[in-house]
Amino acid sequence: MAKRKPLIAGNWKMYKTVAEASDLVKGLKKNLGGISDREALVCPPFTSLAAVAQLLKDSNISLGAQNMHWEEKGAFTGEIAPAMLADAGCKYVIIGHSERRQYFGETDETVNKKTKAAFAHSLTPIVCVGETLAEREKNITLEIIGRQIKNGLAGLTDKQAAELVIAYEPVWAIGTGKTASPAQAQEVHAAIRNLFASMYGNEAAQAARILYGGSVKPDNVSELMRQPDIDGGLVGGASLDVDSFTKLVQFS
Ligand code: PEP
Repeated sequence: MAKRKPLIAGNWKMYKTVAEASDLVKGLKKNLGGISDREALVCPPFTSLAAVAQLLKDSNISLGAQNMHWEEKGAFTGEIAPAMLADAGCKYVIIGHSERRQYFGETDETVNKKTKAAFAHSLTPIVCVGETLAEREKNITLEIIGRQIKNGLAGLTDKQAAELVIAYEPVWAIGTGKTASPAQAQEVHAAIRNLFASMYGNEAAQAARILYGGSVKPDNVSELMRQPDIDGGLVGGASLDVDSFTKLVQFS
């Protein structure tokens, strides 16, 4: 059975100028340049992608973006095309982050279009799913996530399904300092993998990586990473600082 390589991804959100991004990535390169049994990924704002790509040349740290449009090109003011991200040096793209769903009208339908467009341009999508606090309290977490997975990830090939990265991010845990307990996260991760197996077969489901996101910090990362279905982290706040992101990637 395929062994899944752990992935620690930093989502920088709307933080860092080009100069600040360059400083951060220089520090990470110094600390993490030689990693091989795990993968580190940084997702800066669009304006810093080119500068960070240049700095990451000849390093083991990967580059990703935080969003994109599904169309190839056209009159879509303010949007970024998949080919532009690939051209800027991105390997990954985050899709359907809860902040995009909440503030920018992202739906399972747009997530599905973007996921397919990412694969069409050799970008690996990191597709985010997660329930709100109200949904968890109503005991409909698995129903909500099931719907997001079924609709957002429909129509992939088995090969694409195996390469996909899914991020389970309970909305109530993002940027709040509240983390799902390792057991709570594992329960949802296992359910996602089962559902994914029913859609694309066990082999693809065993190969796909499922990240946990929501207030992951250096002091809780190792316990989360010990769960059998947690294959990495999607990290906001703690990815903005050289020391804390280094510690996250160096989880034991
Ligand atoms: C995120 O941005 O996806 C996230 C999980 O943020 P934080 O780590 O700050 O909770």
